[in-house]
Amino acid sequence: MADPTHPVPSPIETDSPCIHCGYNLRGLLAEANCPECGQQIAASLQGDLLRFSDPVWLRRVLLGVSLKLWNMLIGMLVGFVAIVSAGAGARAVWPMLLATVGSALGLWATFCLTSQEPKTTLTENPISLRKTIRTSAIAVMIGGQFVRYGTGLMPATAIWVITVAAGLAGAFVAYGELFYLRRFALRIPNEGIEFLTTFLMWLVPACLALGVLAAAAVAIVVSTGTRDGPLASIGAVGGMLGFFVAVALFILFICYIVVLFRYRSAFRRALDQSTATDPASVTGA
Ligand SMILES: [Zn+2]
Repeated sequence: MADPTHPVPSPIETDSPCIHCGYNLRGLLAEANCPECGQQIAASLQGDLLRFSDPVWLRRVLLGVSLKLWNMLIGMLVGFVAIVSAGAGARAVWPMLLATVGSALGLWATFCLTSQEPKTTLTENPISLRKTIRTSAIAVMIGGQFVRYGTGLMPATAIWVITVAAGLAGAFVAYGELFYLRRFALRIPNEGIEFLTTFLMWLVPACLALGVLAAAAVAIVVSTGTRDGPLASIGAVGGMLGFFVAVALFILFICYIVVLFRYRSAFRRALDQSTATDPASVTGA
């Protein structure tokens, strides 16, 4: 019976989740199939790298990166159009609709980027970072619609409270998405992308939060009509801070787009490798 080319099969000794369904494979033989989903167990024992992960999940994350790119490119276009139309004194409707489409893509991107990896199905904490990011992203989306379409219809104070709350929640979502992306960079693995993502993970939310506070300071001064005194100088500082934050955010924005393109090609490569090496995709192996 003993075959010198094949060692005697021994059961898996540590907790090892199935990459396709999360079932704990401990105690089973590596040559067998997962009792829960029927896929080959060998695919789940190759390590934590993305190229050894579940291809269906990886494809969803890749979609998230593409949607995020579209969301940012539309955001840039909307910003550009808003500046041009504000200069022309026009209140254009279609940039507002385009902005709504862009933010819907952004919400979809957040959901794809934070989609649950099957192997964590049985071990995830009920109140996870993933769910907190998703809930915040929904709040940002709803808040954004109130600000976009409710300005002029709702009291100015209410609009400003929503703007600040949605802005701060948006900063948290930006942090969360980059936190997830950074985890993926460690599993590509690619140190360059990881470094850039860490840099963005701290600076993007910090700039967004500062921008919100600066805008709030300016709005308070403008709405109260103060022209001198300490409140007016707070407004002036807020205005200056807002300008520097806008410049910094623009640079970070470009950097983020470059990083997303790098993630996209890395994920595509991992996906090609995962479908090529996944024993589940090879028949009679
Ligand atoms: Zn399974």
